[in-house]
Amino acid sequence: MKRTHTCGELRAADEGRSVTLQGWVHRRRDLGGLIFLDLRDRTGLVQIVIEPGSSAFAVGERLRPEFIVELGGKLRQRPETQRSTRLPTGAVEVVADTVTVLSEAKTPPFVLNNPGEAAEVSEELRLKYRYLDLRRPEAAAPLRLRHRVTKAIWDFLDAEDFIQVETPLLTLSTPEGARDYVVPSRTQPGSFYALPQSPQLFKQLLMMGGFERYFQIARCFRDEDLRADRQPDFTQLDIEMSFVDQDDILDLNERLMQHVIKTALGCYISVPFPRLSYQDAMNRYGSDKPDVRFGLELADLSPIFAGTTFRGFASVLAEGGSVRALPVPEEHALSRKRLGELEAHAKTYGAQGLAWLRRECEGFAGPIAKFLTDTEVRALTQHAQGEGDLLLIVAGHTRVACEALGAVRLRLARELALIPEGELAFLWVVDFPLLERDDETGGYTYMHHPFTRPREEDLPLLHAEPVKARAWAYDLVLNGFEIGGGSLRIYTLETQLAMFRTLGFSDDEARERFGFFLDALAYGAPPHGGVAWGLDRLIMLLSGAGSLRDVIAFPKNQRGADPLTGAPGPLTQAQLDELSLRLAEHPGGHEEGA
Ligand code: ASP
Repeated sequence: MKRTHTCGELRAADEGRSVTLQGWVHRRRDLGGLIFLDLRDRTGLVQIVIEPGSSAFAVGERLRPEFIVELGGKLRQRPETQRSTRLPTGAVEVVADTVTVLSEAKTPPFVLNNPGEAAEVSEELRLKYRYLDLRRPEAAAPLRLRHRVTKAIWDFLDAEDFIQVETPLLTLSTPEGARDYVVPSRTQPGSFYALPQSPQLFKQLLMMGGFERYFQIARCFRDEDLRADRQPDFTQLDIEMSFVDQDDILDLNERLMQHVIKTALGCYISVPFPRLSYQDAMNRYGSDKPDVRFGLELADLSPIFAGTTFRGFASVLAEGGSVRALPVPEEHALSRKRLGELEAHAKTYGAQGLAWLRRECEGFAGPIAKFLTDTEVRALTQHAQGEGDLLLIVAGHTRVACEALGAVRLRLARELALIPEGELAFLWVVDFPLLERDDETGGYTYMHHPFTRPREEDLPLLHAEPVKARAWAYDLVLNGFEIGGGSLRIYTLETQLAMFRTLGFSDDEARERFGFFLDALAYGAPPHGGVAWGLDRLIMLLSGAGSLRDVIAFPKNQRGADPLTGAPGPLTQAQLDELSLRLAEHPGGHEEGA
């Protein structure tokens, strides 16, 4: 028998039809001698009734959840009182006259037919039995959305004359700032491939190869400390274009995002997205990926405290740091306990402490209020205008002060429920610095990667004051998450060598690591630039999923291991010998490395 219909498509208009269905027993209930089943396939659920006299009854009695069956019967409308509006098929049922078991199933290790209960199951267990987990429509939904998003990307970019090109997975290291995953070569003992952290160099080589417009849904690999929102292997939408400036790239991305959101979610978003300079983002939100769905903007109190007698602030300012504040309106009434918790939170971001001042009818109250001069009080009232308004203050290295308050801002917004649900707040952060100081080495390190183009007018700064040089770089931010980033690229050999020198590579060292790339530049590169989107994170935000793991079919857990297959696992001695590898003694055995 062949199935004639899918479960989810049956409607009252099909009344009287003979149907053959195949699917999973989602639920079974025995009521007054009748057996009711919910039968599930990829399209949804439909109710089945097996009546006592029916020849299907004996098989019906054997059925358990997750058995896979084929059944034949007639479609009828449910009695008026028994119709359900929760399901699209809620007005109908199939009266079965044949049921065949195609596959029996052990009792699953967790309940699949109750979303509430499934949410309670440990994630480790769900990942170990991910193929069962994915049978839950709620678990499969993000993957279906993911498919629609990638299809929309393909369609849009194809129409814009981009071509998709695959780049190698076994390759040489690409410097994106993380550790590489490496693969030993059997035929060249002692040599290793690196898995790409991104296709960065290859996409630039494709521009040098004349393609002009490239994209790829690319797997990337970064061996990073696994924070909650990272996966060791992940997916980027990777794009590169020739003969363009920054505006061309931002414009293409905006139109692409608009198309994706429209086709995948049916929503309209307006473009262009707001643009915020890196400096403004840090000053106003304490973050280079600000969540702008709510206010609570930071203030710079440094000018107000320029002549302060309070030593805590004076010494910070003398060292070139700053005093920053997060003004919190009175209506949010923060208790002492909450202030203590916020201070602890600020300290995890490197702040020495979190001072506070509360506006009173005359002046301010708080531990440091006694140090305030009249002029300072007057100036501070522009940031705390109403009685009871609070200023939460961090003094320190400017970036630390901003980031600590940025973290406090986010936490407060979450705790006070200030973040509107269902809003998509896209923005570009632009005008990034090219480099930052590397505190460990005392030298400079790149903010994006070493192929990012400096602003032409800032080129002389590469020798003089590298941290002042600005980059042609941009990040795409959605609701406080960085979902993409890119840059215009260096396209002349001299500038690339100058960049490597600033990063502390001699020309010889640069040649040794990136000789192939420097050679390619010498043969003429078009001006080019591009972007990469973190596809997993985008899908996470669009689907409302709680973690990246929910939008990946077979994700790793927070220790970078796959509970389903058990990867990573040991090699046999024979495999090690073949690869000319010998393991160093490791106290924890291979588990440690997992
Ligand atoms: N390769 C960069 C990254 O992975 C993106 C880009 O510059 O296009 O972040």
